[in-house]
Amino acid sequence: MAATTETLEFQAETRQLLQLVIHSIYSNKDIFLRELISNASDALDKLRLESLTDTGLGVDTSDLHITLDVDQDARTLTVRDNGIGMTRDDVVDLIGTIAKSGTAALLAKIKEAKDADAAQHLIGQFGVGFYSAFMVADKVTLHTRRAGTEQGTLWESDGEGTYTVAEADGLPVGTTVTLHLKAEDSEDGLGDHLARWKIRQIVKQYSDFIRWPIRMATEPTNTEAVADGDEADGEVTDELETLNSMKALWARPRNEVTEAEYSEFYQQISHDWQPPAETVHMRAEGTFEYEALLFLPAHAPFDLFSRETKRGVQLYVKRVFIMDDCDALMPNYLRFVKGVVDAHDLSLNVSREILQHDRQITAVRRRLVKKVLAAIKSMQATRTDAYATLWDQFGRVIKEGLIEDRDNTDALLELVSAHSTHDPRKTTTLREYVSRMKDGQGTIYYLTGENRAMVENSPHMEAFTAEGYEVLILTDPVDEVWTGQVPAFDGHPFQSIAKGQVDLDNNTDTDGDEAKAARAQQEQDFAQLLTWLQTTLAEHVKRVRLSTRLTTSAACLVGDAHDLTPTLEKMYRAMGQDLPSVKRILELNPTHPLITALRQAHQANPDGPALAETAELVHGSALLAEGGDLPDPARFTRLLTERLTKAL
Ligand code: ADP
Ligand code: MG
Repeated sequence: MAATTETLEFQAETRQLLQLVIHSIYSNKDIFLRELISNASDALDKLRLESLTDTGLGVDTSDLHITLDVDQDARTLTVRDNGIGMTRDDVVDLIGTIAKSGTAALLAKIKEAKDADAAQHLIGQFGVGFYSAFMVADKVTLHTRRAGTEQGTLWESDGEGTYTVAEADGLPVGTTVTLHLKAEDSEDGLGDHLARWKIRQIVKQYSDFIRWPIRMATEPTNTEAVADGDEADGEVTDELETLNSMKALWARPRNEVTEAEYSEFYQQISHDWQPPAETVHMRAEGTFEYEALLFLPAHAPFDLFSRETKRGVQLYVKRVFIMDDCDALMPNYLRFVKGVVDAHDLSLNVSREILQHDRQITAVRRRLVKKVLAAIKSMQATRTDAYATLWDQFGRVIKEGLIEDRDNTDALLELVSAHSTHDPRKTTTLREYVSRMKDGQGTIYYLTGENRAMVENSPHMEAFTAEGYEVLILTDPVDEVWTGQVPAFDGHPFQSIAKGQVDLDNNTDTDGDEAKAARAQQEQDFAQLLTWLQTTLAEHVKRVRLSTRLTTSAACLVGDAHDLTPTLEKMYRAMGQDLPSVKRILELNPTHPLITALRQAHQANPDGPALAETAELVHGSALLAEGGDLPDPARFTRLLTERLTKAL
């Protein structure tokens, strides 16, 4: 063996991660066993699946199982499976490196995470499960042989900087992981992983639903006698006990499953350390039978918005595991939903591509989406706090559905919760908004922007606040998009208060005629100034007009009904899209002293030297007020400074 032993170094990031796993995650060492059993179970699933497609594999799959062994004298715990196994290259690739992107980001997060639970959760998400063995072991030995190959491999490491790989002969197909337990493992009293009762307890707690038997030899009461020379006796074999129930929770009737069982199952499949916020358990009978057990997590994973985020639904066929991350069963905007769907009438060989085009699967997905949305709706109605938390965590994702899923627009709009000018401390649903609409108010007013303070203080709000109209404050990037695509809620169109003309007087129409006459007079008075400004500012704005939405500000910028908002324009540019710049409309407040003074100055001398600069300052201030970027900040500052100096 020595001749073929190679010593290799862990990839730098792997080494860092190992150090973190070993030294900073103390709170729950027991999970190492869950990780190893889950790997073993995966390996059994894979072998089962491969033997279905590759009949020439030549392995016996009639008794797939996991065996746990403790050896008190050697202080070892062994996890063995007769699953798919690994080739030498697999071992180096899968165990020696962490190929996943984003590892550096993960490391940073783990360092930030103050409590061990959170760190553990992060580790679980990245599937560095195998390394958790080093929490309890100071040496790990792995023997493995890949099904369909002859050559076995031995891997060994102390979890420091290096590991060794060597050829190993005479191995059965599958993998054996031997943990040489640390001396301190038995001294802290909690972590005695050589005790059978402890092993039993951990398996029950974390791996009860594993569909393969997890076996362990019962207490070897008569080994002394055997050792004393009774070798010929046929009773030498240990009695094996099966530690897990293997019961598929989703296949049981709802009323026979406890909350605690749901919770454990959820935590097992999601690696979450908190119980789920909501559980959906259903069974469909008829032409296409399936069971679904879905969970809404209580909090978002850190990578919810990364492109690689997987969907959380696993597909089983008659309790045989088929695939994780079954995207055909859950739309992208419900990617946070975790769970299991067990479909009875699919082929075990079904592929992702086939699923995507399968009409029955499409129907299942439609039904599951409705169920999930109904569950959220019922949370909204009955568990207000839980719903508020859920919306806080996942609202931004759920709103993607308003763009992706036209079939459920109405149901999704019912779920939307947003800040509004009605009550700064609380969010509102659209239905609540509608119930507060003023007489004659036909549309739902909203304003989008980068953050709440900016939107709340935007000049566009002035007339609406003054006249007591409620405005929704929408600050998620996705709001910029869906508001442009969803026409109405319950017959009430959405209207951005930063777009188009605003005519609040027409809503109530109290002093209509007088107001109209006054406005006509204003239009006449300001006609020349507006024409001149339009020419002067032509480079920056497409039109200049009088405003009905301002009470205290001198000016603001608005768009036409179908123009991109500045935030959306910025978002497109950030994504690398080359857009012609969208010119906006400058609106002036005809009652503001600055604007009336500007009019008089222009009337007195249309070629006045400071007029053009004032126009620039008015435009720049309007941009600043809504949080926009000045075309030439240095120039703006210089003009302003000159003015201030003169005024002193
Ligand atoms: P994850 O299970 O999330 O992929 P792990 O660190 O637990 O991460 O395991 C890394 C990889 O090593 C697994 O994906 C699998 O390919 C391989 N592996 C680990 N244990 C076994 C095993 N008992 N049999 C076969 N392959 C295994
Ligand atoms: Mg694993």
